[in-house]
Amino acid sequence: MSEAPAASTETMEFKSELRQILHLITHSLYSNKEIFLRELISNASDAINKIRFNSINNSDLLDGDTEWKIKLIADKGKNTLTISDNGTGMSRETIVDQLGTIAKSGTRAFLETLQQADEASRPDLIGQFGVGFYSSFMVADRVTVVSRLAGDPIDQGVRWVSAGEGEFTVKTVDKETHGTDVTLHLKEDEKEFLEEWRLRQVVKEFSDFIEYPVVMDVERHEPVEGEDDKTEAVVREETLNSMKALWLRSKDEIEEDEYNAFYRQISHDYGDPARVIHYTAEGLTEFKVLLFIPAKRPFDMMFGDPKVGPRLYVQRVQIMENCEELLPPYLRFIKGVVDCADLPLNVSREILQQNPILDRIRKNIVKRIFSVLEEMKKDEFDKYVDFYRELGLILKEGMAQDFENRDTLTSLAVYESMNTEAGKYISMDEYVDQMPPDQEEIYYLIGEHRGMLERTPYLEVFRDRGWNVLFMTDPIDEFVMTSVTEYREKKYKAADKGDISADESDKARAEDDEKTFKALIETLKGKITEVQDIRLSSRLKDSASCLVADEGAMSAHMERLMQRMGEGGAQSQASSKRILELNAGHPVVQGLQKLHDSDGEDARVESIGRLLYEQAVVAEGSKLDDPVGFAGRINDLLVKELIRI
Ligand code: ADP
Repeated sequence: MSEAPAASTETMEFKSELRQILHLITHSLYSNKEIFLRELISNASDAINKIRFNSINNSDLLDGDTEWKIKLIADKGKNTLTISDNGTGMSRETIVDQLGTIAKSGTRAFLETLQQADEASRPDLIGQFGVGFYSSFMVADRVTVVSRLAGDPIDQGVRWVSAGEGEFTVKTVDKETHGTDVTLHLKEDEKEFLEEWRLRQVVKEFSDFIEYPVVMDVERHEPVEGEDDKTEAVVREETLNSMKALWLRSKDEIEEDEYNAFYRQISHDYGDPARVIHYTAEGLTEFKVLLFIPAKRPFDMMFGDPKVGPRLYVQRVQIMENCEELLPPYLRFIKGVVDCADLPLNVSREILQQNPILDRIRKNIVKRIFSVLEEMKKDEFDKYVDFYRELGLILKEGMAQDFENRDTLTSLAVYESMNTEAGKYISMDEYVDQMPPDQEEIYYLIGEHRGMLERTPYLEVFRDRGWNVLFMTDPIDEFVMTSVTEYREKKYKAADKGDISADESDKARAEDDEKTFKALIETLKGKITEVQDIRLSSRLKDSASCLVADEGAMSAHMERLMQRMGEGGAQSQASSKRILELNAGHPVVQGLQKLHDSDGEDARVESIGRLLYEQAVVAEGSKLDDPVGFAGRINDLLVKELIRI
C-alpha cells in the first residue's frame, strides 16, 4: 500500500462480508450487548501480551512504559466510553487491514449460521468467531480508534472512524503514547455503559481473569484531613478485575465457579466445560497446567481455522496464544494454559519446535488428558457419551494419526450398536465383554446413519447368531478403520465385507447348496457382468440378495464418499466391482434355480437374476446404473401378477 500523506483523510469501504456482519450486529442483536466490553478488553490484553513478548529482545519499543493497564474512561458529557491500552498498537496499514478490509476465513459460513441462529445465541456466536471488535456497534453509533504502533514515531499515529455502515475513514495523526484508544460514541439508550456500577459488573462477569489491571477513575467523597465534618471529592484509579492467574493457585482454593468463569473467558464458550484438568508437574521439568475439556464442539472447529494448543506462559508472560507443539491436532478442542518457568523467555517458534522440554510437557499432558477421559467414561458414562457425540469425531482422528496412542484412543471410542437402542452407546470394553464364546471378531458396519444401517441385509446373520455389530456413522470412521485393526487381541471386521465365519452345521449345509446352485451361478456370472463374482451368502437370512465388498476393498459407503468428494471437478473414482451374494434359503433364489434347471436358456433367468442384483444395489443405498430397465423388469412381473387377478 502506498504511504498516505500525513493528515490526509482517506475514506474506504468495508469488505462486503464485513458489511453484512456489521449490518447483522447493528440491526438484529438485542440481548447480551455487554459482551462488547469483553471483546475490547480481550483485544487490549492481547495487544499488551504482544508488546511484552516483542520487547523481550527489543526494549526500545517500550518508551519506558511498562505499567501495563487497560483503562476505561467514561465521559458522561460527551457520551463516550473509551477503552485505552498501552499495548503494541497498530500502524495505518494494520488498522485498515484488520478493522476493515480483511475478512477472516470462514466468514461466509459464519454469516449463514448467524442468520439462522436464534437471537439469544447470536452474541455468543459472534464472540467465538472473533468478530469481536465489531460488537462495539451493538452499543455505539460511531467508533473512533486512535492507535500508534510501538516503535513508530509520534506523528505516525492513526485515527480510524466509522459509523459501522458502508465505510470508514483513516487519517494519520499524532499520538503521544503507543497503544490503542477505542472510543465508543454510545447510542442514546446505551448510556448505562457510562455508569461505574455497570462497568464494574460487566468487567467482573466477563473479564475478571484478564491478567492486566482493568482500571477506571472513580470519584469518592472522603473526609478532609483535620476537618472532621467535611468531605471532599477525590478521584482515584481503581482496579476492577481480580487478575487472578488461576493456574498458579492451589487447586483446593479454587471454586468450581471460578474455573468455569475462567474457561468461558479463554474459550469464548458460553457453557461450562465437561472437565477441568489442573495440576503441577514436578521432576525434571516443572510446569503448571490448567486445561479444559469442552462439553460442546468449539465454534472455530466448524468455521475458519481452529486454533490448536493451549496458551504458553513463561514466568507469567504469555509467549504464545496457541502453542501447537503442546498438543496433537486431534486434541485441538482442549483449551487452557501451560506455564513453564524452565523455558527461556525469549524463545521463538523455531526454537520451541526443537525444544526437548516442550516434548516432555506434551507427552505429560496428553497422558493426563487420556486418563481424565478414561475416568469420565468409567464414572460418568452418560456425560462421556455426550462429550463423545460432540467431539468424538475429532478425537478419532488420533486413531489414524497417533500410532503410539492408538490403543488408548480405540478404548476411548464409543459407538451405537445393533443391540443397543437408538441413541444409546456402548464402549469397546462392553462390546468385547459381551461377545459370545463362538464370536471371534469385532464386527462393525459403516454408513450414513443408524436408520439405514439397521435395515441393511448384512445384519441378518448377526441377529440370527446374537452377535452384536457396532454402528459407525461419523464421516471419518471409514478412514479411521483403515488404520485400526484390533482391540484386546480381537480383530475388527466389517460386517459388509468378505465372508462371515460359519459354524460346523452351516458349513455342511453350505457344501450341499454349493452343488445345487452351481449351474445357476455359472449362468448368472455370464450375464451380470457388473459384479466381480456371484456366490451363495453366509450372512443372509431374510433377504434374497446383497452386495458385499471384497475383504480390503472399499465399501459402498466409502465409494459414495469418494464420489461426492470427486464431484465438482476432481476426477471421479472408478468404482470397484462388488460381489453379489444370493440367499440359498430364499424362495426367489430357490425358484430361480428350479427355472434354470428346467431350461437354462429361459430369458427369465437373466431378468430375475438381474432384479436380484438391482434390489441389492438399492438396499445398500447406491444408485442403479439403469433405473429405466429396472422399472421395466418390475412392470413385467406386475403385469403377470395382475393378469392372474
Ligand atoms: P480478533 O481479536 O479475534 O482477531 P477483532 O475483530 O476483535 O478480532 O480484532 C481484529 C484485529 O484487530 C486483531 O486481531 C488485532 O490485530 C487488531 N486489534 C484489535 N484491537 C486491538 C488493540 N486494542 N490493539 C492492537 N490491535 C488490535
